[in-house]
Amino acid sequence: VTTFISPIRKLSAFMEMLMQGTAGFKRFVDLMRLEPEIQDAPDAVELGASAPVAGDIRVEDVTFRYESTSPAVLEGVSLHVHPGETVAVVGPSGGGKSTLCQLIPRFYDVTEGRILLDGWDVRELQQRSLRENIGIVQQDVFLFAGTIYDNIRYGRPDATEEEVIEAARRAEIYEDILEMPDGLNTYVGERGVMLSGGQKQRISIARIFLKNPPILILDEATSALDSVTEHRIQSAFDELAKGRTTLIIAHRLSTIRSANRILVIDGCGIAEEGTHEELLARGGRYAALYEAQRAVAAE
Ligand code: ADP
Ligand code: MG
Repeated sequence: VTTFISPIRKLSAFMEMLMQGTAGFKRFVDLMRLEPEIQDAPDAVELGASAPVAGDIRVEDVTFRYESTSPAVLEGVSLHVHPGETVAVVGPSGGGKSTLCQLIPRFYDVTEGRILLDGWDVRELQQRSLRENIGIVQQDVFLFAGTIYDNIRYGRPDATEEEVIEAARRAEIYEDILEMPDGLNTYVGERGVMLSGGQKQRISIARIFLKNPPILILDEATSALDSVTEHRIQSAFDELAKGRTTLIIAHRLSTIRSANRILVIDGCGIAEEGTHEELLARGGRYAALYEAQRAVAAE
C-alpha cells in the first residue's frame, strides 16, 4: 500500500512536502521516482478475474540492472514462494533485497528472466490488478495530511467505520487512537498530531488488514523501531502474514525465525537457502550473520 501512489495522494504529498521546505521536496522527488513509467500491455490480463488469486510467486533466472550500463544488482536469481508460505530474504546492505521486492509489483521490469504470479508473467497483467493483490510495508511509512481514519481507510476506500476500527484493532493501534485528542478523527501531519515511527508502522499494517491482499511484502519494516516497539509490532505482523504468501526482508535475524524458509542473498544471487536450523548447522554466511548479531546484542 505504502508505495502505490495515486495522483490525489501525490498532490497531497506534494503540498505537505512543500510546507516542509526543500528537504521535504527532495523526499517528494524521491517518492515520484518509485513509480517508473511502465505501461500496461494493450491486452493485459486482470489478475483474479478468472480465478481467485492463490499468491504463487516464481522468480525465474532474473537479472536486473537499473541502467543498461550499470552493474547487475541481481544476477540469475530464482526462487519460488508457494501460496501461504513465509519466506525470508536476508543479506548485506546493498545486496538487492529491496530491488527484488520492487520487481514483484513491477515497479521496474526485469532485465532478463521473468517473474510469474499464479503463472502469469507480471508484464502480462494489468498493473492495477497486480498491485491490488500485494500489500507492502516498508521502513518509511507514508501518511498523508488528514485524519487517522482517512489514513487507514486508504487501504480500501469503500470500507465502513466498523471495518476501519476492526483493522486498527488487529494492527494493535486502536488503543493508541482512543488516547488521541479526537480519536479516529485526529488530524495527523504538519498541523496535527505527530505519530511515532511505531504508530505509523501500525497504521500501515491496519491499511493492509483492510486491503486484505493475498500477497504480503515486508521490507525491513521494523528496522527503524526500537526493540520494545518492534516486539509489539511483530505480533501484528505474524497475524497479518497468516494465510498470505509473505516475503519478508529482515534486518534483525531474530524476527525471521518463524519463516518456512530463509534465503541469503549475496553478491547478486542466492548464496544459501534453508530453515533457520539448517542454515545454522551449515556454518556458512547465515550462521556468520547470526553470530555477529548475537555478539552485538550481548554487548
Ligand atoms: P538492499 O535492499 O539489499 O540493501 P537495494 O536493492 O536497495 O539493496 O540496492 C541494491 C543496489 O542497487 C545498491 O547498489 C543500490 O545502490 C542500487 N540501487 C538501489 N536503488 C536504486 C535506484 N533507484 N537506482 C539506481 N541504483 C539503485
Ligand atoms: Mg533494502
